[in-house]
Amino acid sequence: MTQITPPASADASTNPSFNELPLSPAMQANLQQLGYLTMTPIQAASLPIALAGHDLIAQAKTGSGKTAAFALALLTKLNPRNFGVQAMVLCPTRELADQVTQEIRRLARAEDNIKILTLCGGATMRPQISSLEHGAHIVVGTPGRIMDHLERGSLNLNALNTLVLDEADRMLDMGFFDDIAKVARACPKERQTLLFSATYPEGIAKLSQQFLRKPQEVTLTEQHTATKIRQRFYEVSREQRLNAVGQLLNHFRPVSTIAFCNTRQQCRDLLDVLHKQGFNALTLHGELEQRERDQVLVQFANRSCSVLVATDVAARGLDIAQLEAVINVDITFEPEVHIHRIGRTGRVDQEGWALSLASGNEMDRVMAIEKLHGMQAEWHPLSELTPTGTDVLMPPMVTLQILGGRKEKIRAGDVLGALTKDAGFTKEQIGKINVTEFSTYVAVERKIAREALRKLNEGKVKGKRVKVYFLHERLASA
Ligand code: ADP
Ligand code: MG
Repeated sequence: MTQITPPASADASTNPSFNELPLSPAMQANLQQLGYLTMTPIQAASLPIALAGHDLIAQAKTGSGKTAAFALALLTKLNPRNFGVQAMVLCPTRELADQVTQEIRRLARAEDNIKILTLCGGATMRPQISSLEHGAHIVVGTPGRIMDHLERGSLNLNALNTLVLDEADRMLDMGFFDDIAKVARACPKERQTLLFSATYPEGIAKLSQQFLRKPQEVTLTEQHTATKIRQRFYEVSREQRLNAVGQLLNHFRPVSTIAFCNTRQQCRDLLDVLHKQGFNALTLHGELEQRERDQVLVQFANRSCSVLVATDVAARGLDIAQLEAVINVDITFEPEVHIHRIGRTGRVDQEGWALSLASGNEMDRVMAIEKLHGMQAEWHPLSELTPTGTDVLMPPMVTLQILGGRKEKIRAGDVLGALTKDAGFTKEQIGKINVTEFSTYVAVERKIAREALRKLNEGKVKGKRVKVYFLHERLASA
């Protein structure tokens, strides 16, 4: 087993370049354009193995760039003229499948017309079946739905040469072992299998023995905590706990924070308190419809929501690039989970805060974390938290919802054009643009939000009049 430890300070200038890999010039240029100037440690460790055609087990934390590590391997082997499914990626949830699809799309821009299909539960079968009939090069989906398609005969895997199990630990947690096994057995024996995971529970060895051939293993041990994550603990009483979250937010003023709670009830209670204090907070939980979940994630990722309140189950695997802080509203029962939680802040050359609230009866859990981490908790008193600035923390952006999306052939460029060329705003005042099937969400700077809303409602997008709303107002009135 290859044990690789990244340099304590991930200095981008010393990371290896993609030029060292056997990738096409078009792909190299595309990577440059995407701003992927150097490989992340897991990419540097796994790409040479994957590109050489070996089976692989790669373990590295969330946010370390695992998607590109398998995407580049499968794209390199792809024959665009063959319309059979040549690569398949299994993911635990629809959101993760969507994220993987998007990342592969970005990386595939260099090649001509590569078709990628996402096949997940929760969506109707019919359109998926007809898309499959039209041919696809790559399929990304959840094990259950892929199984359904195999059973109906709507998915043919004869041309498959790469199978990827992404977030394998999470898929096992969710009870997908049998489905994965069935799907893997339906794949041609001659194939490359790549398994990615954030942790290495027992089931992974079992999967690997059954479905991988002489896999090479790459593990990146977690060294990030010492350098990039500043961790502090605060002792709180039961009465202080929920209020303390607002105190932390007003003291540190992070633009984006995930607040982890151990229970759904705690999430609801915290959300109440934060709303009463005037914070812009949203929560993710199992009762949300898919569209509502998407809207929560869009607003959090585009920086128009300050705090995402979530349980571990709801938040796992989400790729949120810029996260200034993680707040542990409760200390987890398992010290490994704590490390996963705080590993979400301080990514990609940024520092992040990991702030934990602990009451007297949680001290044994803090000790378990100290032991696993090999560190001493740094305790600070709540009394040192003083609000910086006089106002409650506000997100820098506001989300506008345009009724109309992919179905109306709206593209991000159309919206950007309407706001910059027609309405006269600068590019810098416009944030992320997410185009979904029926709606488009665009983040704009808070101070131009009203004017942007008015100008979009008065003007045109793609030659047509559109209806535009503040997403938070629509949600509040729904
Ligand atoms: P993981 O699957 O390990 O959780 P992702 O593949 O989702 O991580 O990548 C996390 C983020 O890092 C993504 O936003 C991705 O676009 C970005 N990223 C990946 N590789 C690189 C790279 N070489 N340089 C810069 N950013 C990268
Ligand atoms: Mg991933």
